[in-house]
Amino acid sequence: MALIVQKYGGTSVGNPERIKNVAARVAKYRAKGDQVVVVVSAMSGVTDNLIKLAKEIMPLPNEREMDVLLATGEQTTIALAAIALHSLGLPAVSLTGAQAGIVTDGVHTKARIQNITPQKIHDLLNEGNVVIVAGFQGQTTEGQVTTLGRGGSDLTAIALAAALKADLCQIYTDVDGVYTADPRIVPGARKLEEISYDEMLELASLGAKVMQSRSVEFAKKFGVVFEVRSSLNENPGTIVKEETKNMESVVVRGVSLDKNQAKVTLVAVPDKPGVAARIFKAIGDSNVNVDMIVQNISHGSGAPATDLSFTVDKPDLLKAQKVIDGLKEEIGFGKVISTDKIGKLSIVGVGMKSHTGVAGKMFDTLAREGVNIDMISTSEIKISVVIDLAKGEAAMRAVHAAFLG
Ligand code: ADP
Ligand code: ASP
Ligand code: MG
Repeated sequence: MALIVQKYGGTSVGNPERIKNVAARVAKYRAKGDQVVVVVSAMSGVTDNLIKLAKEIMPLPNEREMDVLLATGEQTTIALAAIALHSLGLPAVSLTGAQAGIVTDGVHTKARIQNITPQKIHDLLNEGNVVIVAGFQGQTTEGQVTTLGRGGSDLTAIALAAALKADLCQIYTDVDGVYTADPRIVPGARKLEEISYDEMLELASLGAKVMQSRSVEFAKKFGVVFEVRSSLNENPGTIVKEETKNMESVVVRGVSLDKNQAKVTLVAVPDKPGVAARIFKAIGDSNVNVDMIVQNISHGSGAPATDLSFTVDKPDLLKAQKVIDGLKEEIGFGKVISTDKIGKLSIVGVGMKSHTGVAGKMFDTLAREGVNIDMISTSEIKISVVIDLAKGEAAMRAVHAAFLG
């Protein structure tokens, strides 16, 4: 008998038929004597729709209220999934994040899990129930509803697998596993049998939304091995685990494109100590994550000034602009130019540690495609470039063909 955590994403619970399929799959594991904890997302499109509704009322809605709103999506599916299991004659109980003992900090819309008290889940399992937990949500110690950032049901599943010391953690989605690139954009992408935490983490943070990046971070920290697989068939998926020796023989494991970034450029920022610190401290204090930062060399006559560009997640752009506007007088920069028409294209692979010439090949491929590179950033296992959004997908296919074709 094994204890299994299974997570089903939005498409996998997208309509009553799909929810019945989930129940049938769970029933198969129960019939083998396994204990099953099911984590579900909101039905596909529901979270986006709730956000849209709120923004129709006000462009920057209060984040506490957004969490109260968004948590309803998952609350619908836990009940429907429990009802689907009941229809098969299986005892099942649905739990909200709070009821499941998921305690988070108070950073609304991107809360971090602080601890999980899984006693209630264990008790319900031991009474013979399938336990269905709402993904993406938790509660602060003061009883405030929180959510864990977009795609956060993955994190719920991985964190529960760690807290429950589950034997198996399966992430069911609408593709067969983790591919060398998003198969919807790159038809030639191939499914990977396995991938290291670090590579998965980079791909996820760089736009491969098949896994939420924080969930991969968590899995690495607590050593949770998990499988990404399809809820629509029985094909084996992709195992995500610690790096093994032979993984380094592959230079580039995958290519990703993040279309969810925006760029802010401050023109003519005074080039003197403390200015960058002031800007990024204020942005950090508003809980906006800054990714890439590029500062040009000083220009102009008179007092030295420079242009400073940085990227943020698209949904944070308004918030970042507001913070920057508030600093204009104090710091005294020129105009602010923002655009969300950028894409961040990245290649990832632990093999880059031991191979050279990778950046040159990537830039050469982009040059041949007529793609201009706006910003560059690298780490030991990735190279990212910011490019024009309109050319993003074609550039991704070209780079995939060059390294993985
Ligand atoms: P779920 O609702 O199950 O959480 P998501 O939509 O969040 O599913 O993630 C699955 C999607 O991720 C796939 O449909 C696919 O288009 C996309 N995707 C992006 N990059 C990759 C990749 N490298 N491998 C597999 N899928 C990817
Ligand atoms: N429903 C949430 C979202 O769409 C969480 C998830 O699907 O994992 O982001
Ligand atoms: Mg997802």
